[in-house]
Amino acid sequence: MSNSADAPSPAPSDFIRDVVAGDVQAGKYAQIVTRFPPEPNGYLHIGHAKSICLNFGIAREFGGICHLRMDDTNPAKEEVEYVDSIVADVNWLIGGFADHCLGLKPRGATPATQRVNGTPDFHLGAVPAGTPNVEPFYASDYFEQIHSYAVQLIRLGKAFVCDLTADEIDERRRNGTASPFRDRSVEENLDLFARMRAGEFPDGARTLRAKIDVAAPNIWLRDPLLYRIRHVEHHHTGASWRIYPMYDFAHCLSDYIEGVTHSICTLEFEVHRALYDWILEALALPRPLPHQYEFARLNLTYTVMSKRKLMQLVQDRLVNGWDDPRMPTISGLRRRGVTSRALRDFAYNIGITKYDGMTEVGVLDHAIRDDLNRHALRRLAVLRPVKVVFTNLPEDHCEELEAYNLPDSPTDLRKIPFTREIFIEADDFMEVPPPKYFRLRPGGEVRLKYGYIIQCEEVVKDAAGNIAELRCTVDLGTKRGGPNADRKVKGTIHWVSASRAIDAEVRLYDRLFTVPEPDAEGDFKAHLNPDSLEVLTAKCEPSLAAASPEERYQFERLAYFALDKDSTPGKLVFNRTITLKETWAKEAKK
Ligand code: ATP
Ligand code: MG
Repeated sequence: MSNSADAPSPAPSDFIRDVVAGDVQAGKYAQIVTRFPPEPNGYLHIGHAKSICLNFGIAREFGGICHLRMDDTNPAKEEVEYVDSIVADVNWLIGGFADHCLGLKPRGATPATQRVNGTPDFHLGAVPAGTPNVEPFYASDYFEQIHSYAVQLIRLGKAFVCDLTADEIDERRRNGTASPFRDRSVEENLDLFARMRAGEFPDGARTLRAKIDVAAPNIWLRDPLLYRIRHVEHHHTGASWRIYPMYDFAHCLSDYIEGVTHSICTLEFEVHRALYDWILEALALPRPLPHQYEFARLNLTYTVMSKRKLMQLVQDRLVNGWDDPRMPTISGLRRRGVTSRALRDFAYNIGITKYDGMTEVGVLDHAIRDDLNRHALRRLAVLRPVKVVFTNLPEDHCEELEAYNLPDSPTDLRKIPFTREIFIEADDFMEVPPPKYFRLRPGGEVRLKYGYIIQCEEVVKDAAGNIAELRCTVDLGTKRGGPNADRKVKGTIHWVSASRAIDAEVRLYDRLFTVPEPDAEGDFKAHLNPDSLEVLTAKCEPSLAAASPEERYQFERLAYFALDKDSTPGKLVFNRTITLKETWAKEAKK
Protein backbone atom coordinates (compact mmCIF):
# COMPACT_ATOMS: atom_id res chain seq x y z
CA MET A 1 0.00 0.00 0.00
CA SER A 2 1.27 3.43 -0.76
CA ASN A 3 1.10 6.52 1.34
CA SER A 4 -1.13 8.18 -1.22
CA ALA A 5 -3.91 6.26 0.51
CA ASP A 6 -3.49 8.82 3.30
CA ALA A 7 -4.72 11.67 1.10
CA PRO A 8 -7.90 13.13 2.59
CA SER A 9 -10.94 11.29 1.28
CA PRO A 10 -13.61 13.41 -0.40
CA ALA A 11 -16.12 14.98 1.97
CA PRO A 12 -18.97 12.58 2.60
CA SER A 13 -22.45 13.37 1.43
CA ASP A 14 -25.73 12.46 3.10
CA PHE A 15 -29.19 13.89 3.70
CA ILE A 16 -28.08 16.10 6.59
CA ARG A 17 -25.12 17.53 4.69
CA ASP A 18 -27.51 18.15 1.79
CA VAL A 19 -29.71 20.26 4.08
CA VAL A 20 -26.69 22.19 5.38
CA ALA A 21 -25.37 22.75 1.85
CA GLY A 22 -28.80 24.06 0.80
CA ASP A 23 -28.90 26.43 3.77
CA VAL A 24 -25.39 27.68 3.01
CA GLN A 25 -26.33 28.26 -0.62
CA ALA A 26 -29.48 30.13 0.40
CA GLY A 27 -27.44 32.30 2.78
CA LYS A 28 -29.80 31.34 5.61
CA TYR A 29 -27.20 31.72 8.37
CA ALA A 30 -24.11 33.86 8.83
CA GLN A 31 -22.23 30.74 9.90
CA ILE A 32 -23.04 27.06 10.33
CA VAL A 33 -22.99 26.07 14.01
CA THR A 34 -23.43 22.47 15.16
CA ARG A 35 -22.96 20.92 18.57
CA PHE A 36 -22.19 17.57 20.17
CA PRO A 37 -24.13 17.45 23.46
CA PRO A 38 -23.27 14.45 25.67
CA GLU A 39 -24.75 14.04 29.11
CA PRO A 40 -21.79 13.58 31.50
CA ASN A 41 -23.25 10.42 33.06
CA GLY A 42 -20.75 7.93 31.63
CA TYR A 43 -17.91 7.52 29.17
CA LEU A 44 -18.36 8.07 25.45
CA HIS A 45 -18.70 5.03 23.20
CA ILE A 46 -18.20 4.42 19.52
CA GLY A 47 -21.81 5.46 18.82
CA HIS A 48 -20.90 8.88 20.16
CA ALA A 49 -17.88 8.85 17.84
CA LYS A 50 -20.30 8.68 14.91
CA SER A 51 -22.12 11.75 16.22
CA ILE A 52 -18.86 13.62 16.99
CA CYS A 53 -17.50 12.99 13.50
CA LEU A 54 -20.80 14.09 11.96
CA ASN A 55 -21.11 17.32 13.95
CA PHE A 56 -17.46 18.37 13.90
CA GLY A 57 -17.17 17.13 10.33
CA ILE A 58 -20.04 19.32 9.10
CA ALA A 59 -18.60 22.36 10.88
CA ARG A 60 -15.26 21.71 9.28
CA GLU A 61 -16.60 21.08 5.78
CA PHE A 62 -18.85 24.15 5.75
CA GLY A 63 -16.49 26.61 7.42
CA GLY A 64 -18.56 26.59 10.59
CA ILE A 65 -18.00 25.79 14.24
CA CYS A 66 -19.06 22.92 16.48
CA HIS A 67 -19.54 23.17 20.22
CA LEU A 68 -18.83 20.39 22.63
CA ARG A 69 -21.59 20.96 25.17
CA MET A 70 -22.16 19.13 28.41
CA ASP A 71 -25.89 18.46 28.49
CA ASP A 72 -25.82 18.60 32.26
CA THR A 73 -29.37 19.13 33.44
CA ASN A 74 -29.73 15.96 35.53
CA PRO A 75 -27.37 16.50 38.50
CA ALA A 76 -28.13 13.20 40.21
CA LYS A 77 -26.32 11.10 37.58
CA GLU A 78 -23.56 13.41 36.45
CA GLU A 79 -19.96 13.63 37.62
CA VAL A 80 -16.81 15.62 36.91
CA GLU A 81 -14.96 12.37 36.14
CA TYR A 82 -17.27 11.91 33.17
CA VAL A 83 -16.86 15.52 32.03
CA ASP A 84 -13.08 15.09 32.04
CA SER A 85 -13.20 11.80 30.17
CA ILE A 86 -15.54 13.26 27.54
CA VAL A 87 -13.27 16.25 26.95
CA ALA A 88 -10.23 13.96 26.67
CA ASP A 89 -12.01 11.60 24.27
CA VAL A 90 -13.31 14.36 22.00
CA ASN A 91 -9.88 15.99 21.93
CA TRP A 92 -8.31 12.70 21.01
CA LEU A 93 -10.86 11.82 18.35
CA ILE A 94 -10.93 15.11 16.47
CA GLY A 95 -7.58 16.56 17.49
CA GLY A 96 -5.98 14.77 14.56
CA PHE A 97 -7.84 16.79 11.94
CA ALA A 98 -5.24 18.78 10.05
CA ASP A 99 -7.35 21.91 10.23
CA HIS A 100 -9.10 20.96 13.40
CA CYS A 101 -9.08 24.52 14.68
CA LEU A 102 -12.32 25.10 12.89
CA GLY A 103 -15.18 24.67 15.21
CA LEU A 104 -13.42 24.21 18.48
CA LYS A 105 -13.50 26.34 21.54
CA PRO A 106 -9.89 26.92 22.51
CA ARG A 107 -8.82 26.04 26.01
CA GLY A 108 -8.74 29.15 28.15
CA ALA A 109 -11.01 31.18 25.88
CA THR A 110 -13.61 33.41 27.42
CA PRO A 111 -17.00 31.78 27.87
CA ALA A 112 -19.45 31.68 25.01
CA THR A 113 -20.88 35.00 24.00
CA GLN A 114 -24.41 34.43 25.07
CA ARG A 115 -27.05 35.80 22.84
CA VAL A 116 -28.96 38.45 24.71
CA ASN A 117 -32.60 38.73 23.77
CA GLY A 118 -32.93 40.92 20.72
CA THR A 119 -29.28 40.65 19.73
CA PRO A 120 -29.33 38.10 16.96
CA ASP A 121 -25.66 37.90 16.17
CA PHE A 122 -23.69 35.29 17.96
CA HIS A 123 -20.12 34.72 17.05
CA LEU A 124 -17.42 32.82 18.82
CA GLY A 125 -14.63 34.34 16.83
CA ALA A 126 -11.87 32.63 14.91
CA VAL A 127 -9.81 30.05 16.73
CA PRO A 128 -6.08 30.38 16.13
CA ALA A 129 -4.52 27.67 13.98
CA GLY A 130 -2.80 24.89 15.86
CA THR A 131 -5.01 25.19 18.93
CA PRO A 132 -4.54 21.81 20.54
CA ASN A 133 -7.55 21.41 22.75
CA VAL A 134 -11.27 21.83 22.92
CA GLU A 135 -13.06 22.99 26.00
CA PRO A 136 -16.68 22.27 26.68
CA PHE A 137 -19.67 24.52 26.95
CA TYR A 138 -22.11 23.66 29.73
CA ALA A 139 -25.90 23.77 29.45
CA SER A 140 -25.79 24.53 33.18
CA ASP A 141 -24.03 27.83 32.39
CA TYR A 142 -27.35 28.89 30.89
CA PHE A 143 -29.54 27.95 33.86
CA GLU A 144 -30.24 31.58 34.74
CA GLN A 145 -31.19 32.41 31.19
CA ILE A 146 -33.25 29.25 30.76
CA HIS A 147 -35.03 30.11 34.01
CA SER A 148 -35.90 33.56 32.70
CA TYR A 149 -37.36 31.96 29.57
CA ALA A 150 -39.54 29.83 31.85
CA VAL A 151 -40.74 32.93 33.67
CA GLN A 152 -41.49 34.49 30.30
CA LEU A 153 -43.60 31.46 29.30
CA ILE A 154 -45.56 31.78 32.56
CA ARG A 155 -46.16 35.47 31.84
CA LEU A 156 -47.39 34.57 28.36
CA GLY A 157 -49.88 32.12 29.93
CA LYS A 158 -48.04 29.20 28.29
CA ALA A 159 -46.73 27.43 31.39
CA PHE A 160 -48.19 26.53 34.79
CA VAL A 161 -47.09 25.07 38.10
CA CYS A 162 -48.65 21.63 38.64
CA ASP A 163 -49.03 19.90 42.01
CA LEU A 164 -49.73 16.40 40.66
CA THR A 165 -47.30 13.58 41.39
CA ALA A 166 -45.17 12.12 38.60
CA ASP A 167 -47.49 9.09 38.34
CA GLU A 168 -50.61 11.23 38.22
CA ILE A 169 -49.09 13.36 35.50
CA ASP A 170 -48.11 10.28 33.48
CA GLU A 171 -51.59 8.84 33.77
CA ARG A 172 -53.30 12.04 32.69
CA ARG A 173 -50.93 12.49 29.79
CA ARG A 174 -51.69 8.95 28.67
CA ASN A 175 -55.44 9.54 28.97
CA GLY A 176 -55.30 13.03 27.48
CA THR A 177 -56.91 14.72 30.48
CA ALA A 178 -56.01 18.13 31.85
CA SER A 179 -54.29 18.83 35.15
CA PRO A 180 -56.63 20.48 37.70
CA PHE A 181 -53.88 23.12 38.14
CA ARG A 182 -53.80 24.06 34.46
CA ASP A 183 -55.77 27.27 34.87
CA ARG A 184 -53.87 28.84 37.74
CA SER A 185 -53.42 32.58 37.37
CA VAL A 186 -50.18 33.99 36.04
CA GLU A 187 -49.56 35.62 39.45
CA GLU A 188 -50.03 32.38 41.35
CA ASN A 189 -47.79 30.53 38.88
CA LEU A 190 -45.06 33.19 39.18
CA ASP A 191 -45.25 33.05 42.96
CA LEU A 192 -45.14 29.24 43.14
CA PHE A 193 -42.32 29.01 40.60
CA ALA A 194 -40.29 31.56 42.58
CA ARG A 195 -40.86 29.50 45.73
CA MET A 196 -39.86 26.32 43.90
CA ARG A 197 -36.60 28.06 43.02
CA ALA A 198 -36.15 29.25 46.58
CA GLY A 199 -36.25 25.64 47.78
CA GLU A 200 -39.52 25.85 49.72
CA PHE A 201 -40.90 22.51 48.46
CA PRO A 202 -39.50 19.00 48.60
CA ASP A 203 -38.45 16.96 45.57
CA GLY A 204 -41.40 15.94 43.44
CA ALA A 205 -43.91 18.24 45.17
CA ARG A 206 -44.44 20.48 42.15
CA THR A 207 -43.38 20.82 38.53
CA LEU A 208 -43.54 23.51 35.91
CA ARG A 209 -45.40 22.33 32.81
CA ALA A 210 -45.98 23.80 29.38
CA LYS A 211 -49.58 24.54 28.53
CA ILE A 212 -49.90 23.17 25.01
CA ASP A 213 -52.62 20.62 24.27
CA VAL A 214 -53.71 17.93 26.73
CA ALA A 215 -54.94 15.63 23.97
CA ALA A 216 -52.35 16.31 21.25
CA PRO A 217 -51.77 13.27 18.99
CA ASN A 218 -48.05 13.60 19.77
CA ILE A 219 -47.88 12.67 23.45
CA TRP A 220 -44.78 14.85 23.93
CA LEU A 221 -47.00 17.90 23.40
CA ARG A 222 -49.45 16.93 26.17
CA ASP A 223 -48.45 19.64 28.63
CA PRO A 224 -44.89 18.34 29.07
CA LEU A 225 -42.71 19.01 32.10
CA LEU A 226 -40.32 21.95 31.88
CA TYR A 227 -38.85 22.07 35.42
CA ARG A 228 -38.66 19.75 38.38
CA ILE A 229 -37.51 20.19 41.98
CA ARG A 230 -34.23 18.45 42.87
CA HIS A 231 -32.42 19.22 46.10
CA VAL A 232 -29.16 17.92 44.69
CA GLU A 233 -25.76 19.56 44.28
CA HIS A 234 -24.69 19.95 40.69
CA HIS A 235 -21.15 19.13 39.56
CA HIS A 236 -20.84 22.46 37.75
CA THR A 237 -23.25 24.88 39.49
CA GLY A 238 -22.85 23.55 43.04
CA ALA A 239 -25.75 24.33 45.39
CA SER A 240 -27.12 27.32 43.46
CA TRP A 241 -30.18 25.57 42.13
CA ARG A 242 -33.07 23.67 43.67
CA ILE A 243 -34.95 23.33 40.39
CA TYR A 244 -33.56 21.92 37.18
CA PRO A 245 -34.87 22.24 33.61
CA MET A 246 -35.96 19.10 31.78
CA TYR A 247 -33.91 17.94 28.80
CA ASP A 248 -36.50 19.10 26.25
CA PHE A 249 -36.68 22.60 27.69
CA ALA A 250 -32.95 23.06 28.21
CA HIS A 251 -31.83 21.56 24.92
CA CYS A 252 -33.55 23.77 22.38
CA LEU A 253 -32.80 26.88 24.45
CA SER A 254 -29.12 25.93 24.87
CA ASP A 255 -28.96 25.47 21.11
CA TYR A 256 -30.58 28.87 20.64
CA ILE A 257 -28.32 30.60 23.17
CA GLU A 258 -25.23 29.21 21.44
CA GLY A 259 -26.45 30.20 17.99
CA VAL A 260 -26.64 26.60 16.84
CA THR A 261 -28.09 26.36 13.34
CA HIS A 262 -28.35 22.59 12.86
CA SER A 263 -29.13 20.56 15.97
CA ILE A 264 -28.38 16.98 14.96
CA CYS A 265 -29.49 14.05 17.11
CA THR A 266 -30.50 10.41 16.88
CA LEU A 267 -33.89 9.15 15.68
CA GLU A 268 -35.44 8.64 19.11
CA PHE A 269 -35.64 12.43 19.39
CA GLU A 270 -37.76 12.74 16.26
CA VAL A 271 -40.93 12.70 18.38
CA HIS A 272 -39.51 15.53 20.52
CA ARG A 273 -38.99 17.81 17.53
CA ALA A 274 -42.48 19.34 17.72
CA LEU A 275 -41.79 20.35 21.33
CA TYR A 276 -38.35 21.71 20.41
CA ASP A 277 -40.04 23.95 17.85
CA TRP A 278 -43.00 24.84 20.08
CA ILE A 279 -40.78 26.19 22.87
CA LEU A 280 -38.74 28.40 20.55
CA GLU A 281 -41.86 29.64 18.76
CA ALA A 282 -43.81 30.24 21.98
CA LEU A 283 -41.08 32.55 23.26
CA ALA A 284 -41.20 34.52 19.98
CA LEU A 285 -37.42 34.60 19.91
CA PRO A 286 -35.58 36.66 17.32
CA ARG A 287 -34.66 34.63 14.20
CA PRO A 288 -32.91 32.63 13.01
CA LEU A 289 -33.93 29.65 15.11
CA PRO A 290 -32.05 26.36 15.30
CA HIS A 291 -33.60 23.30 13.65
CA GLN A 292 -33.40 19.70 14.73
CA TYR A 293 -32.44 16.87 12.33
CA GLU A 294 -32.37 13.19 13.19
CA PHE A 295 -30.21 10.30 11.96
CA ALA A 296 -29.95 6.60 12.81
CA ARG A 297 -27.78 5.73 15.79
CA LEU A 298 -24.92 3.30 15.43
CA ASN A 299 -25.55 -0.25 16.61
CA LEU A 300 -22.66 -2.67 16.38
CA THR A 301 -22.68 -6.47 16.53
CA TYR A 302 -20.94 -8.35 19.37
CA THR A 303 -21.24 -5.48 21.82
CA VAL A 304 -23.67 -3.36 23.82
CA MET A 305 -23.73 0.37 23.44
CA SER A 306 -25.88 2.04 26.06
CA LYS A 307 -24.06 3.86 28.84
CA ARG A 308 -26.32 2.18 31.36
CA LYS A 309 -25.20 -1.29 30.27
CA LEU A 310 -21.56 -0.32 29.96
CA MET A 311 -21.84 1.06 33.51
CA GLN A 312 -23.11 -2.34 34.69
CA LEU A 313 -20.09 -4.09 33.18
CA VAL A 314 -17.81 -1.68 35.03
CA GLN A 315 -19.68 -1.78 38.34
CA ASP A 316 -20.01 -5.57 38.34
CA ARG A 317 -16.27 -5.78 37.55
CA LEU A 318 -16.90 -7.84 34.47
CA VAL A 319 -14.32 -5.62 32.76
CA ASN A 320 -11.42 -3.64 34.22
CA GLY A 321 -12.94 -0.16 34.06
CA TRP A 322 -14.42 2.06 31.37
CA ASP A 323 -11.20 1.98 29.37
CA ASP A 324 -10.86 -1.80 29.35
CA PRO A 325 -9.66 -2.57 25.81
CA ARG A 326 -12.65 -4.88 25.29
CA MET A 327 -15.13 -2.05 25.86
CA PRO A 328 -16.71 -0.20 22.90
CA THR A 329 -15.89 3.06 24.68
CA ILE A 330 -13.66 5.59 22.93
CA SER A 331 -11.19 5.28 25.81
CA GLY A 332 -11.27 1.47 25.60
CA LEU A 333 -10.67 1.47 21.86
CA ARG A 334 -7.86 3.99 22.31
CA ARG A 335 -6.24 1.84 24.98
CA ARG A 336 -6.53 -1.20 22.75
CA GLY A 337 -4.45 0.66 20.20
CA VAL A 338 -7.13 1.78 17.73
CA THR A 339 -6.11 5.12 16.23
CA SER A 340 -8.38 8.15 16.02
CA ARG A 341 -7.78 8.07 12.27
CA ALA A 342 -9.28 4.58 12.04
CA LEU A 343 -12.33 5.61 14.07
CA ARG A 344 -12.89 8.68 11.91
CA ASP A 345 -12.57 6.57 8.76
CA PHE A 346 -15.06 4.13 10.18
CA ALA A 347 -17.50 6.91 11.08
CA TYR A 348 -17.30 8.36 7.58
CA ASN A 349 -17.55 5.04 5.82
CA ILE A 350 -20.69 3.83 7.58
CA GLY A 351 -22.51 6.95 6.43
CA ILE A 352 -25.53 8.73 7.83
CA THR A 353 -29.02 7.41 7.21
CA LYS A 354 -32.52 7.63 8.61
CA TYR A 355 -32.98 3.89 9.11
CA ASP A 356 -31.93 2.03 12.23
CA GLY A 357 -29.82 -1.01 11.52
CA MET A 358 -27.01 -3.13 12.84
CA THR A 359 -23.46 -2.55 11.64
CA GLU A 360 -21.23 -5.62 11.51
CA VAL A 361 -18.26 -5.24 13.84
CA GLY A 362 -16.23 -6.54 10.87
CA VAL A 363 -16.67 -3.10 9.28
CA LEU A 364 -14.94 -1.53 12.27
CA ASP A 365 -12.26 -4.24 12.26
CA HIS A 366 -11.62 -3.54 8.60
CA ALA A 367 -11.09 0.19 9.26
CA ILE A 368 -8.71 -0.65 12.12
CA ARG A 369 -6.69 -3.12 10.06
CA ASP A 370 -6.57 -0.88 7.03
CA ASP A 371 -5.10 1.94 9.09
CA LEU A 372 -2.65 -0.22 11.04
CA ASN A 373 -1.50 -2.01 7.92
CA ARG A 374 -0.39 1.32 6.52
CA HIS A 375 1.14 2.79 9.65
CA ALA A 376 2.20 0.08 12.11
CA LEU A 377 5.93 -0.56 12.44
CA ARG A 378 6.88 -4.15 11.68
CA ARG A 379 8.58 -6.01 14.52
CA LEU A 380 9.43 -9.61 15.37
CA ALA A 381 8.07 -11.24 18.51
CA VAL A 382 7.24 -14.80 19.51
CA LEU A 383 4.20 -15.43 21.67
CA ARG A 384 4.62 -19.13 22.45
CA PRO A 385 8.35 -19.77 22.14
CA VAL A 386 10.19 -22.96 21.19
CA LYS A 387 13.99 -22.87 21.27
CA VAL A 388 16.01 -23.57 18.14
CA VAL A 389 19.77 -24.26 18.43
CA PHE A 390 22.02 -24.08 15.35
CA THR A 391 24.54 -26.89 15.65
CA ASN A 392 26.68 -25.46 12.82
CA LEU A 393 27.23 -22.06 14.47
CA PRO A 394 29.78 -21.22 17.18
CA GLU A 395 28.49 -20.38 20.70
CA ASP A 396 29.24 -16.70 20.32
CA HIS A 397 27.83 -16.25 16.84
CA CYS A 398 26.09 -12.89 16.63
CA GLU A 399 25.40 -10.89 13.50
CA GLU A 400 23.02 -8.09 12.66
CA LEU A 401 20.43 -8.74 9.96
CA GLU A 402 18.44 -5.98 8.32
CA ALA A 403 14.66 -5.81 8.58
CA TYR A 404 12.03 -3.48 7.10
CA ASN A 405 10.19 -1.11 9.41
CA LEU A 406 7.40 -0.72 6.87
CA PRO A 407 6.80 -2.98 3.88
CA ASP A 408 6.72 -0.20 1.30
CA SER A 409 9.77 1.76 2.53
CA PRO A 410 12.76 -0.32 1.33
CA THR A 411 15.34 2.09 2.72
CA ASP A 412 13.81 2.32 6.20
CA LEU A 413 15.68 -0.53 7.87
CA ARG A 414 16.62 -1.61 11.36
CA LYS A 415 19.07 -4.23 12.66
CA ILE A 416 17.96 -7.46 14.32
CA PRO A 417 20.46 -9.73 16.03
CA PHE A 418 20.86 -13.33 14.82
CA THR A 419 22.51 -15.71 17.28
CA ARG A 420 23.21 -19.42 17.77
CA GLU A 421 19.96 -19.86 19.71
CA ILE A 422 16.66 -18.37 18.63
CA PHE A 423 12.98 -18.75 19.48
CA ILE A 424 10.34 -19.65 16.96
CA GLU A 425 6.58 -19.91 17.43
CA ALA A 426 5.41 -23.28 18.76
CA ASP A 427 2.76 -23.28 16.01
CA ASP A 428 5.45 -23.07 13.35
CA PHE A 429 6.79 -26.58 14.07
CA MET A 430 4.93 -29.86 13.77
CA GLU A 431 6.40 -33.30 14.27
CA VAL A 432 3.70 -34.96 12.18
CA PRO A 433 2.33 -32.19 9.98
CA PRO A 434 -0.80 -32.42 7.84
CA PRO A 435 -0.52 -32.06 4.04
CA LYS A 436 0.34 -28.57 2.77
CA TYR A 437 2.10 -27.63 6.03
CA PHE A 438 4.95 -25.44 4.82
CA ARG A 439 6.51 -24.52 8.13
CA LEU A 440 9.17 -26.47 10.05
CA ARG A 441 9.06 -30.28 10.42
CA PRO A 442 11.68 -32.91 11.24
CA GLY A 443 14.09 -32.94 8.30
CA GLY A 444 12.26 -30.01 6.70
CA GLU A 445 13.40 -26.55 5.71
CA VAL A 446 11.96 -23.08 6.27
CA ARG A 447 13.18 -19.51 5.78
CA LEU A 448 13.60 -17.19 8.77
CA LYS A 449 12.02 -13.82 8.08
CA TYR A 450 14.79 -11.37 7.00
CA GLY A 451 17.30 -14.23 7.38
CA TYR A 452 18.46 -17.65 6.36
CA ILE A 453 17.02 -20.99 5.35
CA ILE A 454 17.27 -23.46 8.21
CA GLN A 455 16.77 -27.22 8.39
CA CYS A 456 15.50 -29.23 11.38
CA GLU A 457 17.90 -32.09 12.21
CA GLU A 458 16.68 -33.32 15.60
CA VAL A 459 13.84 -32.86 18.07
CA VAL A 460 15.01 -32.94 21.71
CA LYS A 461 12.37 -33.70 24.33
CA ASP A 462 12.29 -33.42 28.08
CA ALA A 463 11.33 -36.23 30.47
CA ALA A 464 7.66 -35.33 30.13
CA GLY A 465 7.81 -35.70 26.38
CA ASN A 466 7.54 -31.96 25.63
CA ILE A 467 9.78 -30.38 23.03
CA ALA A 468 12.82 -28.95 24.83
CA GLU A 469 14.62 -27.66 21.74
CA LEU A 470 14.98 -28.16 18.03
CA ARG A 471 18.49 -28.81 16.74
CA CYS A 472 18.86 -27.24 13.35
CA THR A 473 21.47 -26.21 10.80
CA VAL A 474 21.52 -22.88 9.03
CA ASP A 475 22.61 -22.23 5.43
CA LEU A 476 24.51 -18.93 5.77
CA GLY A 477 24.72 -18.67 1.99
CA THR A 478 20.97 -18.05 1.74
CA LYS A 479 21.03 -14.50 3.11
CA ARG A 480 19.88 -11.70 0.79
CA GLY A 481 22.84 -11.10 -1.59
CA GLY A 482 24.50 -14.42 -0.57
CA PRO A 483 25.57 -17.18 -3.03
CA ASN A 484 22.46 -19.32 -2.31
CA ALA A 485 20.10 -16.37 -1.97
CA ASP A 486 17.74 -17.57 -4.65
CA ARG A 487 17.29 -21.00 -3.15
CA LYS A 488 13.53 -21.33 -2.58
CA VAL A 489 11.57 -22.91 0.26
CA LYS A 490 7.81 -22.71 0.69
CA GLY A 491 7.52 -21.34 4.22
CA THR A 492 8.81 -18.24 6.03
CA ILE A 493 8.49 -17.93 9.79
CA HIS A 494 9.20 -15.23 12.38
CA TRP A 495 11.77 -15.61 15.14
CA VAL A 496 13.83 -13.70 17.72
CA SER A 497 17.34 -14.16 19.09
CA ALA A 498 17.09 -16.14 22.35
CA SER A 499 19.95 -14.37 24.13
CA ARG A 500 18.99 -10.88 23.00
CA ALA A 501 15.16 -11.11 23.27
CA ILE A 502 13.30 -9.08 25.86
CA ASP A 503 10.24 -10.32 27.71
CA ALA A 504 6.95 -8.50 27.46
CA GLU A 505 3.50 -9.18 28.80
CA VAL A 506 1.04 -9.44 25.95
CA ARG A 507 -2.69 -9.19 26.49
CA LEU A 508 -4.63 -10.95 23.77
CA TYR A 509 -8.09 -9.43 23.70
CA ASP A 510 -11.02 -10.94 21.95
CA ARG A 511 -14.67 -10.00 21.58
CA LEU A 512 -16.44 -9.34 24.84
CA PHE A 513 -19.59 -11.20 23.78
CA THR A 514 -20.08 -14.52 22.01
CA VAL A 515 -23.28 -13.62 20.19
CA PRO A 516 -23.88 -10.93 17.54
CA GLU A 517 -26.72 -9.26 19.46
CA PRO A 518 -26.16 -9.67 23.20
CA ASP A 519 -29.07 -7.28 23.80
CA ALA A 520 -31.53 -9.37 21.86
CA GLU A 521 -32.12 -12.27 24.24
CA GLY A 522 -32.42 -12.05 28.00
CA ASP A 523 -29.64 -10.69 30.16
CA PHE A 524 -26.84 -9.39 27.96
CA LYS A 525 -24.32 -10.38 30.65
CA ALA A 526 -25.14 -14.05 30.08
CA HIS A 527 -23.41 -13.82 26.71
CA LEU A 528 -20.01 -12.63 27.91
CA ASN A 529 -17.09 -14.39 26.21
CA PRO A 530 -15.14 -16.26 28.94
CA ASP A 531 -12.03 -16.22 26.72
CA SER A 532 -12.00 -12.52 25.92
CA LEU A 533 -8.58 -12.06 27.56
CA GLU A 534 -5.49 -14.26 27.49
CA VAL A 535 -2.22 -13.06 29.02
CA LEU A 536 1.15 -14.40 27.83
CA THR A 537 4.81 -13.55 28.22
CA ALA A 538 6.24 -12.99 24.76
CA LYS A 539 9.84 -12.91 23.54
CA CYS A 540 10.39 -9.67 21.63
CA GLU A 541 13.19 -8.36 19.45
CA PRO A 542 15.39 -5.97 21.46
CA SER A 543 14.36 -2.81 19.56
CA LEU A 544 10.96 -3.05 21.26
CA ALA A 545 12.61 -1.94 24.50
CA ALA A 546 12.21 1.56 23.03
CA ALA A 547 8.53 1.05 22.16
CA SER A 548 6.46 4.20 22.39
CA PRO A 549 2.79 4.58 23.31
CA GLU A 550 2.37 6.79 20.25
CA GLU A 551 3.44 4.01 17.86
CA ARG A 552 1.57 0.99 16.66
CA TYR A 553 3.32 -2.31 15.95
CA GLN A 554 2.68 -5.28 13.78
CA PHE A 555 4.27 -8.35 15.32
CA GLU A 556 4.83 -9.98 11.96
CA ARG A 557 2.61 -12.92 11.08
CA LEU A 558 0.75 -12.45 14.39
CA ALA A 559 -1.27 -9.31 15.02
CA TYR A 560 -1.19 -5.57 15.66
CA PHE A 561 -0.15 -4.38 19.12
CA ALA A 562 0.06 -1.16 21.10
CA LEU A 563 1.89 -0.39 24.33
CA ASP A 564 -0.44 -0.37 27.33
CA LYS A 565 -0.41 2.34 29.99
CA ASP A 566 0.48 -0.34 32.57
CA SER A 567 3.98 -0.56 31.03
CA THR A 568 6.95 0.47 33.16
CA PRO A 569 10.58 0.85 32.02
CA GLY A 570 11.30 -2.60 33.43
CA LYS A 571 8.17 -4.31 32.17
CA LEU A 572 6.54 -3.78 28.82
CA VAL A 573 2.87 -4.57 28.37
CA PHE A 574 1.35 -4.83 24.91
CA ASN A 575 -2.34 -4.99 24.02
CA ARG A 576 -3.39 -6.87 20.95
CA THR A 577 -5.36 -4.29 18.99
CA ILE A 578 -6.53 -6.71 16.34
CA THR A 579 -5.46 -9.88 14.58
CA LEU A 580 -4.01 -9.65 11.07
CA LYS A 581 -6.99 -11.42 9.55
CA GLU A 582 -10.53 -12.18 10.52
CA THR A 583 -10.42 -15.41 12.52
CA TRP A 584 -13.59 -15.19 14.55
CA ALA A 585 -16.03 -16.68 12.03
CA LYS A 586 -13.84 -19.76 11.68
CA GLU A 587 -13.26 -20.18 15.41
CA ALA A 588 -16.90 -19.65 16.33
CA LYS A 589 -17.80 -22.78 14.37
CA LYS A 590 -15.33 -24.99 16.23
P1 ATP B 1 -26.74 6.03 25.55
O1 ATP B 1 -28.11 5.76 25.00
O2 ATP B 1 -25.68 5.16 25.01
O3 ATP B 1 -26.69 6.10 27.01
P2 ATP B 1 -27.17 8.73 25.13
O4 ATP B 1 -27.93 9.00 23.88
O5 ATP B 1 -27.91 8.80 26.39
O6 ATP B 1 -26.36 7.41 24.97
P3 ATP B 1 -25.91 11.25 25.21
O7 ATP B 1 -24.82 11.65 26.10
O8 ATP B 1 -27.24 11.83 25.44
O9 ATP B 1 -25.94 9.68 25.24
O10 ATP B 1 -25.51 11.42 23.68
C1 ATP B 1 -24.85 12.53 23.14
C2 ATP B 1 -25.10 12.56 21.67
O11 ATP B 1 -24.62 11.36 21.06
C3 ATP B 1 -26.57 12.64 21.34
O12 ATP B 1 -26.75 13.61 20.32
C4 ATP B 1 -26.92 11.27 20.88
O13 ATP B 1 -27.97 11.32 19.95
C5 ATP B 1 -25.61 10.78 20.27
N1 ATP B 1 -25.51 9.33 20.33
C6 ATP B 1 -25.66 8.56 21.42
N2 ATP B 1 -25.56 7.25 21.12
C7 ATP B 1 -25.33 7.19 19.78
C8 ATP B 1 -25.16 6.12 18.84
N3 ATP B 1 -25.19 4.85 19.22
N4 ATP B 1 -24.96 6.46 17.55
C9 ATP B 1 -24.92 7.74 17.15
N5 ATP B 1 -25.09 8.78 17.98
C10 ATP B 1 -25.31 8.53 19.28
MG1 MG C 1 -29.25 10.63 26.25
